[in-house]
Amino acid sequence: MPSYDPNNIFAKILSGELPCHKVYEDDKALAFLDIMPRAPGHTLVLPKAQARNILDIAPDDLAHVMAVAQKIAKAAMTAFEADGITVQQFNEGAGGQVVFHLHVHVIPRKAGVPMKPPAAEKEKPDVLADCAKKLAAAIAAG
Ligand code: 5GP
Repeated sequence: MPSYDPNNIFAKILSGELPCHKVYEDDKALAFLDIMPRAPGHTLVLPKAQARNILDIAPDDLAHVMAVAQKIAKAAMTAFEADGITVQQFNEGAGGQVVFHLHVHVIPRKAGVPMKPPAAEKEKPDVLADCAKKLAAAIAAG
């Protein structure tokens, strides 16, 4: 397996070199909105530790990322009046991975509404800012 590339785009978001619409942060994880959401509120949860994907992440870091994904899923149910949540996580190109810093997709779903195709359309910054605010407030409310 190739080694971790510290110049990947999510590493630059984690270091603050590139911006994001943050919804949650703690000492081991960061969650922000996907810029090409497959549904409103589509969030990515990342470990702060360098990990390419599920094949090299330390089990404790993976467990923490999943705990944060659960926190975001629960908050998204209220923030976006969702009927369900799709969780996705891709590994290596053959597994559908495009950005090589491990991330878990948390996608709020409405009954009967299909997801947009991956990377179909960049969302407007003001729409993302509004979604991030709503989701962060629901997370803070617990
Ligand atoms: P994956 O690697 O899981 O297949 O997909 C990478 C995801 O990252 C895609 O859903 C894509 O829309 C998202 N993405 C790609 N570049 C950026 C970016 O610069 N910022 C954010 N927030 N999301 C991105």
